[in-house]
Amino acid sequence: MTRLVILGKQGAGKGTQCALLAKHYHIPHISTGDMLRTAVAEGTHLGLQAKAIMEAGELVSDEIILGIVHERLTQADAQLGFLLDGFPRTDAQAQGLMAMLAPNKIDVALDIDVPDDVVTKRMLARGRDDDTPEAMQRRLELYQTETAPLLELFSKGGFLVSVDGLGTELEVHGRVIDAIERNRSL
Ligand code: ADP
Repeated sequence: MTRLVILGKQGAGKGTQCALLAKHYHIPHISTGDMLRTAVAEGTHLGLQAKAIMEAGELVSDEIILGIVHERLTQADAQLGFLLDGFPRTDAQAQGLMAMLAPNKIDVALDIDVPDDVVTKRMLARGRDDDTPEAMQRRLELYQTETAPLLELFSKGGFLVSVDGLGTELEVHGRVIDAIERNRSL
């Protein structure tokens, strides 16, 4: 049973590390960003609500996000563990997650640490549709004000593991697995 939360700003390499981790632990990779992009592409009610917010780099409401995560976590494949990517991003989301899981807890909140100038370069190189310079800047700001404070919250709970995100994908993956296993055995 492995319940993981992946933190880290846009461009920190979360997507790549999540794919490797999901394989390693045989757990579903649950990305709120991917779920929202699917909803936008399919033109669902949720997608219509989220589209403009995402394009501006703003955050979709906690209520909506908690609703889609709750629904996803009740599915059969998530009963033996999961990897949450891009969630929680706010204090309310973190509190909501804890409440959803109680009496269980997450095993590890993983922070992949990469400096701002490096993430900006990576983001410019990947050029996703919603990666306008303004939206990228806004996401970094929101990371600092809304998401970075969660590091302290998870640290107090003894869940936080920080890993240096510089290096090749496999170097970072090795560090991530070592760090998770070390923290879990504490
Ligand atoms: P990133 O570009 O940081 O990798 P994601 O792919 O996780 O971002 O998410 C893309 C966009 O979807 C975000 O900028 C935001 O508008 C919305 N979003 C995703 N996850 C959340 C969340 N947990 N809370 C609020 N909004 C979210």
